[in-house]
Amino acid sequence: MSEPVYPGASWEPGAAAGYNRGRNRMRTVKCHYTVGVNSGALIRNQGLAQWLVDRDGTIHQYAECDAICWDSGEFNDDGPGIEVEYYEPHDGDAIFTDAARDATAGLVHWLHNEWGVPLDYYDGPRVAEGAFSGFIAHKSLQQRPDLQHYDYWPREDWDRMVSGAPPEPTPPPRKRALMAGFLVLGIDGQSVYVYDPNTHSSCLMHTNEVLEAWQNVAKVNGFDASIHSEDWARALLADAEPMRK
Ligand SMILES: [Zn+2]
Repeated sequence: MSEPVYPGASWEPGAAAGYNRGRNRMRTVKCHYTVGVNSGALIRNQGLAQWLVDRDGTIHQYAECDAICWDSGEFNDDGPGIEVEYYEPHDGDAIFTDAARDATAGLVHWLHNEWGVPLDYYDGPRVAEGAFSGFIAHKSLQQRPDLQHYDYWPREDWDRMVSGAPPEPTPPPRKRALMAGFLVLGIDGQSVYVYDPNTHSSCLMHTNEVLEAWQNVAKVNGFDASIHSEDWARALLADAEPMRK
């Protein structure tokens, strides 16, 4: 039995994790891009795809690869979905940065080697469910008219991903990003006690780490949390007091 979590991903289980919605067939991998950035919280909290690849090459995994996520309507149970972060509103940006393409290549090869997904990419006219096994552009899925999407991966990026030797998975960042919802339990000098809902444990963190975690929370929730001063940061943390347990 293959491991359901890619070794190069940061494991951040969300709504579809734990096979909440059942298992998929691991037959077709749906290839997406996001519109704009900071979609991580949405994808994770609603279980919209297994993976999000950031423009810096960080890969987040929100559900087991063979779990069902809601990435493509009737095709949800055919296989997993990979979202690549794309600043579409910024004219002229490529869908893949070099870092994102290299990281995605590792994931693609892993899905092939560990899970037997054919190393073929289809981005042609829309096809019905079951007509293709491999990697398929979202725009090539034959979905209900209200579900049709137009996202895809450029063919030249795919060709570069599968040419040459498979890249080694890059280990995820050592420090796991704290998810929205962590609770500040208390502040003691330069240290802060934090409850982490991901591990259901409390831990002691130094102020810098907490501020960094706070910035991550701000980022996924789309509000500004630039650090202006230590006093400002402390006031911000104090605002979390009503959540104290
Ligand atoms: Zn899509």
